[in-house]
Amino acid sequence: MSEDCVFCKINRGEIPSEVIFRNESCFVIRDIAPKAPVHLLIIPSGHFTYLTGMTPEFAPIAVDMLDAARCVAEQEGVTDAGYRLVINQGGNAGQEVPHLHMHLLGGKKLGGMG
Ligand code: AMP
Repeated sequence: MSEDCVFCKINRGEIPSEVIFRNESCFVIRDIAPKAPVHLLIIPSGHFTYLTGMTPEFAPIAVDMLDAARCVAEQEGVTDAGYRLVINQGGNAGQEVPHLHMHLLGGKKLGGMG
């Protein structure tokens, strides 16, 4: 946990946000500024600033994040049509929130990767 981190604050219930899914390692919320009809954030409950911190001993957390993505895609009805999972890592990727998270984007035909 990190005192000032927005996603840690959401996890602690200090910032209101609807958690639509939770498992042992992570939770899922809707992005506050959605870039697609379905735009979810899959967030590890423990604080990792970057993917760099998710060394092999944390592999079960990565597995739980992918499983959460699979479950919420089903929940949101985008499994069959398809969706995209994205991790923005660091400056060149435009990472805004310094707490590792995975975006799930779907609900429309997505543009190319840029
Ligand atoms: P990234 O560029 O990968 O760091 O993306 C951070 C994402 O978090 C952006 O898409 C923001 O819109 C989203 N975001 C920031 N604050 C909140 C919040 N309080 N609740 C939901 N989404 C948020």
